[in-house]
Amino acid sequence: MRHVDRIAGVGLLDGRVVDVDISGGVVVAVTEAVTEAVTEAGDAGVDITGAPGAAVVDGRGYLALTAPAEPHAHLDKAMSWGATRPPGCDLGAAIDAWRAFAVTVDQDEIYERARVAARRLVSNGTTAVRTHVDLHTEGDPLRGIRALVRVRDELADVLDLQIVVMVRDEDPADRARAAIAAGADLIGGAPHIAPDTAAETHRLIDLAEELGTGIDLHVDEFLDGDHGMLTAFTDRVASWEPGRIRTAGHCCRIGSMDATGQAAAATALSGADVGVVTLPVTNLYLQGRTECTSTPRGLPPVRALLDGGVTVAAGADNVRDPFNPVGRSDAIETAMLLVVAAHLDMDTAWHLVSDGARDVMGLPPAGPVPGRRADLLLVRASGLDDVIAEAPADRIVLRAGRVVSARAAVVVDPFLTQASNRSSVLQEAP
Ligand SMILES: [Zn+2]
Repeated sequence: MRHVDRIAGVGLLDGRVVDVDISGGVVVAVTEAVTEAVTEAGDAGVDITGAPGAAVVDGRGYLALTAPAEPHAHLDKAMSWGATRPPGCDLGAAIDAWRAFAVTVDQDEIYERARVAARRLVSNGTTAVRTHVDLHTEGDPLRGIRALVRVRDELADVLDLQIVVMVRDEDPADRARAAIAAGADLIGGAPHIAPDTAAETHRLIDLAEELGTGIDLHVDEFLDGDHGMLTAFTDRVASWEPGRIRTAGHCCRIGSMDATGQAAAATALSGADVGVVTLPVTNLYLQGRTECTSTPRGLPPVRALLDGGVTVAAGADNVRDPFNPVGRSDAIETAMLLVVAAHLDMDTAWHLVSDGARDVMGLPPAGPVPGRRADLLLVRASGLDDVIAEAPADRIVLRAGRVVSARAAVVVDPFLTQASNRSSVLQEAP
C-alpha cells in the first residue's frame, strides 16, 4: 500500500476541482487543480504503480469524500444467515436463532466471517468500524472478542476497529472485566431486553466507570411502552467528562413518540452529550411487523434529533445474519435509506455515515480539508446525488494517506468489439 502524495484534478462536494496534497497521513493543502500535473493513467484513473517520484492519483472524474465510518456493526454475527435461517423475522426470533447457532461456533469460525465482512466494508470505502461482540455462555465466553481482536490486529493497516463487548444480564461482571482485559474497548449491552432494564443500565454504567471505558448501549429497540432506560442512561452519563464516549444505538421508541416526547428525548440526549446511531436497514427489517396498517418505519426521528442538537450517526447494524438477511456492507446503501426512510437531504445523509459517524466514534476529523486525516473515498461521480442514487462501483479508498482498496467496474458493451471494451483496474483487497 503506497503512500499517496497528491490526488490531482478531483472534485469536491462544493463543486470545485482541486489537487489534494497529502503528507504524513494528513491532508496538507487543497488547491485549484493544475491539470498538467496529472499523470495520464487511462480510464482507470489511477497511477499508484510504484514508479519513482511522487505518487499521484489521477482524480479526474472522481469525487473526494470523507471516507465512511460504520458506527454500529455486529461483525461476529455477520454472514451467518445461510447457517441460521430463523423461522421468524422479528427481534425475538432473531435473538433465539443467533443463540442456538452461537453455541456451535468456535473462534476460527467467527474470525472467518468477521474478516470477510470487515474487508467488504473497506473495499466499499469504510475505514473505521465499531463492532459489538457477544459474550458466550457455553465454551470460551470470550471467543468472539478474541476473534475480533485478531481481525483488528490483522487489518490494523487498513481499518480502525473499535470493539464493544455486549454484556447480557446473565453475564457476571467478571466476564465483562475479562473482555475488556482481552482487548475490548467499550462496554455495551441491550438493557431494554433485560428483566429489570433500569437496574441493568446502571450495572453497565457502573462497569464502564470502574474500568475507565466509554459505553455504547442498544437503547429502546422497540416501538411501544417505556422501559425507563433512556433517562436512566442520560441522567448517569451527563456528568461524564467531555469526550468520553457515550452512545445510544437504535432508539426506535423515540420515533413512535409524539412531538413533545421527541423534543424531550432530544433535550436529554444532547444535554448528556450522548451520540445516537440510527440503523435503518436492520430496523426497517425487524420493527413494525405486527402493524398491517400504516406500518411504522422503526427509526428514531432523525431530523428532530438533529434539530435538538443531538450528534447523530447512521450505520447498518446487522448484515446477512438472523437480524437482517440483506445488506451490502456499503455506507452508500445506508445513506440511500436515510434519504427515503428518514427523509434526510443528501448532504445530511452523507454526513451521518461519514463525519457524523466519526464524531460519534470519537475519531479525529477526516476528509479533503487541510489538517484533517486523509481517510478519503474517491468515487466516480459528478455529485452526491450520483453517489447515493447509483452507488458507483469505481472507488478508491485511502486510509491515512495510503490506498487500501481500488476497484473499477468492467464495462462490456455487447455492441462493441471486444478490443473496444474497457477493462480496468480490479479490486485490490486489503
Ligand atoms: Zn446492534
